[in-house]
Amino acid sequence: DVVTRFAPSPTGYLHIGGARTALFNWLYARGRGGKFLLRIEDTDRARSNPEATAAILHGMAWLGLDYDGDVISQFERADRHAEVANEMLAAGKAFKCFATQDEIEAFREAARAEGKSTLYRSPWRDADASTHPDLPYVIRVRAPEGGTMVIRDEVQGDVKIGHDQLDDMILLRSDGTPVYMLAVVVDDHDMGVTHVIRGDDHLSNAARQMMVYEAMGWEVPVFAHIPLIHGPDGKKLSKRHGALGAQEYQLMGYPAAGMRNYLARLGWSHGDDEFFSDAQAKEWFDLGGIGKSPARFDTKKLEHLCGQHIASADNAALQQELLEFLSARADEPLTDPKILLLSAAMACLKERAKTFPELLEKAEFILADRPIFPDQKASKALDSVSRGILHALTPHLQNASWTLDALETVTADFAEANGTKFGKMAGPLRAALSGRAVTPSVFDMLLVLGKDESLARISDAAN
Ligand code: GLU
Repeated sequence: DVVTRFAPSPTGYLHIGGARTALFNWLYARGRGGKFLLRIEDTDRARSNPEATAAILHGMAWLGLDYDGDVISQFERADRHAEVANEMLAAGKAFKCFATQDEIEAFREAARAEGKSTLYRSPWRDADASTHPDLPYVIRVRAPEGGTMVIRDEVQGDVKIGHDQLDDMILLRSDGTPVYMLAVVVDDHDMGVTHVIRGDDHLSNAARQMMVYEAMGWEVPVFAHIPLIHGPDGKKLSKRHGALGAQEYQLMGYPAAGMRNYLARLGWSHGDDEFFSDAQAKEWFDLGGIGKSPARFDTKKLEHLCGQHIASADNAALQQELLEFLSARADEPLTDPKILLLSAAMACLKERAKTFPELLEKAEFILADRPIFPDQKASKALDSVSRGILHALTPHLQNASWTLDALETVTADFAEANGTKFGKMAGPLRAALSGRAVTPSVFDMLLVLGKDESLARISDAAN
């Protein structure tokens, strides 16, 4: 059974690259009835902090990337990592190294002088235990000699690395703490991880990690090292585009489904499909669809997809997400009557809105209370001629039954009788009802607001 994991280091917020890695692992597992695990790689005590862990969990929750079981702390597993280092020691796959810093530095200097590799191969590799001094030591892996190592990677193909590219890597420091490179392998093995999908900045780590797999005789997981994300200019992702945290995208009001869709397309493709649902993404996602070159972050594309997701979302679910957006932004909660109006209006609000702020702008006719203060554009639509039209129209509206058909008929009849067109009346009505120039259709607003409120607003504007 498939087991994937996301293994962030808690040194900062969940950035776009991390969110994409998490999403790929989540899609791969969820599409195959597998498990998706979360491990916080907090071994680096100086750089790890609980705020970062909280931000990562928050970002994942916002993106709906649910994980199985408990969050695993790598640091808490240090004893187990040490146990494996000692097993390797007992099996002769690792050794005690008593070299001092000075000796190692001298080795490197000599190697540099001779133009040789500075990768450390310790003279203690083959020392007899009886010659061991009573000094502090580290445990190092016995790096393989001669030949090449092959990392089979689903994205990069077979990556060959000469064994002479590997050093006698430290497994356990002299204070007994495990190094990160050991911890990753032990954790992935113990967690039963079958597929490791991560950024290709970890490809060179994979070679060192393979030494541990091979020494322990553990099955190597399937690797998929995915190209990093670049900015629209093809250069490294900058703050301006994409290097922001997931939470910032949440606060900019992108719907999570749109964000997932966009992130899935960042470096992975399925034919010409651009807009798709979670269910489709889970069904389609595979490692073969991951591209070999870096994806480029494109805000326009993100917004376009978000617009499509908002337009096609279930109204109740969209409203729920909108309310969560308001609370994430720490806005004052909406009153129940406003929430009722909002749900009545959701069908018309969600058209042509790419973000929640855009949707809220169209909802201004609901969120504002009488008296409605027209903005500059709307004021222009309320000149004396227009006010006269609103005035004359009012009794007809008063007598109308409040349905789309009836309202369309009443306004069309009125336009005809007065030698005008509905188009001419729409601007003033829009301004009267909302105080804005960009709104849902006049009929949608009349219906959502209801007869009393609509007539009150029209009367306010007409007089
Ligand atoms: N902790 C590593 C990082 O945040 C990920 C390591 C891995 O996925 O194996 O980049």
